[in-house]
Amino acid sequence: MKAPAFSYVRPRQLHEVFALMETHGDEARLLAGGQTLLATLNMRLSEPALLIDMQAISELKGVNFDGKVLRIGAMVTHTEIETSGLVALHAPMLAAAAPHIAHRAIRNLGTFGGSIAYGDPAAEWPACLLALDGVILARSLRGERRIAADDFFTGLYTTELAADEVIVACEIPVAQANQKISFSELARRHGDYAIVGLAATAKVIDHQMSRVRLAWIGVGSTPMRSSKTEQALDGQPLSMQTLNQALSCCEASWPPCLT
Ligand SMILES: Cc1cc2nc3c(=O)[nH]c(=O)nc-3n(C[C@H](O)[C@H](O)[C@H](O)COP(=O)(O)OP(=O)(O)OC[C@H]3O[C@@H](n4cnc5c(N)ncnc54)[C@H](O)[C@@H]3O)c2cc1C
Repeated sequence: MKAPAFSYVRPRQLHEVFALMETHGDEARLLAGGQTLLATLNMRLSEPALLIDMQAISELKGVNFDGKVLRIGAMVTHTEIETSGLVALHAPMLAAAAPHIAHRAIRNLGTFGGSIAYGDPAAEWPACLLALDGVILARSLRGERRIAADDFFTGLYTTELAADEVIVACEIPVAQANQKISFSELARRHGDYAIVGLAATAKVIDHQMSRVRLAWIGVGSTPMRSSKTEQALDGQPLSMQTLNQALSCCEASWPPCLT
């Protein structure tokens, strides 16, 4: 099938995007990398009259480090994250997760902001953002607000983002020297969406864990944290025995968010 006819605009400034959104309301749709949206148009699951392409808006691009947080612009592509020196240094979990997203052609076009806005529970970035205590910066004509990743994903493909808001960037606290990270997932073939995955991080001082975060991919209608297991691990030694106990605890009461 082919997409229905639509109008197309490519503004250069964010304020033009807000003006277009205000004028066209529900008839307009934001276009980032198009890797999800264009498929839904081709399948006629969505029939917007206007696509607002954000490719030319430089304010939404780039990865920056201000000494405390890493700021990833909404239009930064999966490949740019995969190859960024700043990301490798300050948010190594993202560098570890990026190669698991689809294939190169999709990673070259798909964006961080598009993935977060879409809120797919099987996607890598939402779970990473939960594990890393990330913050989503959402802007509209009403101003800008900061939404913690923990509060952002509210249901299947549903988020806290209001209809008139645009994700402009996400902020991630930088990795500390005593922070351990792990990212792993199971997929049928390389490039497929994960069947299940886990983004995990903990602070480890003298072999003792604190600030444990376990964020799961593909186990529910949103990316999910195992809050009780995180609490149980807090203060425990980082050892194979402790981790095996935690994993059997997760397995025993699936889905793991309940443990
Ligand atoms: C074959 C295939 C395999 C894939 N495999 C994976 C995978 O394994 N893991 C994975 O995570 N993803 C996967 N994807 C999805 C891919 O990562 C997409 O890039 C991503 O989901 C959406 O990003 P996008 O930039 O393409 O957004 P678009 O498709 O352009 O937009 C998606 C939605 O988000 C909205 N939106 C986009 N940007 C913003 C913004 N800044 N503010 C507010 N709303 C916005 C759009 O209006 C639209 O509703 C796959 C896609 C394909 C086609």
